[in-house]
Amino acid sequence: MAATLKPKTGGEDTAHYDVIVAGGGFAGGTLGLALAKLAPKSFRVALVDAAPRDAGAHRSPDARGLALSAATKSLLAAIGLWPALADKAQPIRTIDITDSPLNASLRPHFLGFDEEMKTGTPEAYLVEAGDLLGAIGAAIAKEAAITLFAPDSVETYETDAFGVRAELASGKTLEAPLLAAADGKRSRVREQAGIKCIGWSYPQLGIVATVAHERPHHGKAVQHFLPAGPFAILPLKGNRSSIVWTEEKAKGQELMAGSEEAFVGELSLRFGHRLGAITLEGPHQAFPLEFQMARSFVADRLALIGDAAHAVHPLAGQGLNIGLRDVAALTETIIEALRLGLDIGAAMTLERYQRWRRFDSAFSATVMDGLNRLFSNDSMPLRTFRDLGLGLVDRAPGLKRFLVREAAGATGDVPRLLKGEAL
Ligand SMILES: Cc1cc2nc3c(=O)[nH]c(=O)nc-3n(C[C@H](O)[C@H](O)[C@H](O)COP(=O)(O)OP(=O)(O)OC[C@H]3O[C@@H](n4cnc5c(N)ncnc54)[C@H](O)[C@@H]3O)c2cc1C
Repeated sequence: MAATLKPKTGGEDTAHYDVIVAGGGFAGGTLGLALAKLAPKSFRVALVDAAPRDAGAHRSPDARGLALSAATKSLLAAIGLWPALADKAQPIRTIDITDSPLNASLRPHFLGFDEEMKTGTPEAYLVEAGDLLGAIGAAIAKEAAITLFAPDSVETYETDAFGVRAELASGKTLEAPLLAAADGKRSRVREQAGIKCIGWSYPQLGIVATVAHERPHHGKAVQHFLPAGPFAILPLKGNRSSIVWTEEKAKGQELMAGSEEAFVGELSLRFGHRLGAITLEGPHQAFPLEFQMARSFVADRLALIGDAAHAVHPLAGQGLNIGLRDVAALTETIIEALRLGLDIGAAMTLERYQRWRRFDSAFSATVMDGLNRLFSNDSMPLRTFRDLGLGLVDRAPGLKRFLVREAAGATGDVPRLLKGEAL
């Protein structure tokens, strides 16, 4: 059933859908695909995205490598995206954690996850952001149940007892029972709904880069806790790694404004010699880092997902994984409501989604925030205390297994799509 044009409420140019998704990035694109693939055949999705899509290269390059949990992989597999990513995804086989000052000649291992990760199935994968977004974009282009409006954006919206009407920048009007806001950290839709956020900016920048190195990484991810913030070396396919370097803001800005040579010099100081000489691949980028949690994940006929609902410190590579938990939970909630013949935009349906996701997201975000505060400083007593803690965790196989399962997205009230179960 194609989207119908009904003159009833919004005039002749109003197109009617089952859901309008504002934002067609990682979270919005995935939600659109999940609903298009798993909801009943007649379900129609309007996906509105501000970024242009011409000639395949629809966005500015994104130098991030994204750590995806095993649970996220299950969701991507359920909606048919994993085959396009499998060859490009590097399994993370082991994790090493160190805690030392910047000038330390050796970075002793404090906590390692070797045995706990030898389960046969990798608990996490590294994919390049461009590959993931490319796979989502290609799948959307082939999906008949999705109508894409891009480049376009949701400018305003209003609701009544029957549905939501969204006005796009292009002048088009869309109507549906439900609007999902996946329009990122600065969500305009969230702002329009009057939903406030709890949040603060970190005095740090997240610098990302891809490096090629001489020796193989054997799938090992390394997190060096340095005084300015965590420095992660995450394995990509081939002799390549993705860097997530949290740096004090002024120093980070100086690095970004300086020469490539100076940047590589500072990078090498932190990277160490384990993988031989390194060279920079592609551009390096810096992201402002913020903690942000929407006070409500729902409003009248509105659900927030992904960074529109919460933004977390990237130190454990969990931001998108948490966002895709929203996608899986909202998809399951919508499909159950459809089966029961309920209104998918009704307060009762949305409250179920909010109960499922809000506490879980707030808990994860708070843990990331606490770890960043605990480790991003050079206080000697604090270093002794946390190294003692890391040492204790390293000697507790049960706790380590739990932490690995937590990182894999396998703990808590896990939506079925994240467990590889059919809806
Ligand atoms: C340095 C760094 C490293 C990270 N590493 C990891 C990691 O390893 N693993 C992980 O899980 N997460 C990671 N994250 C977090 C992850 O990048 C984010 O959680 C993720 O990008 C959020 O996706 P999203 O789709 O919610 O939002 P976005 O990626 O911000 O997408 C928002 C989309 O909405 C569109 N849009 C905006 N306004 C409108 C509008 N009004 N109407 C229509 N469309 C609109 C935009 O064009 C865009 O496509 C990292 C983040 C940073 C900063």
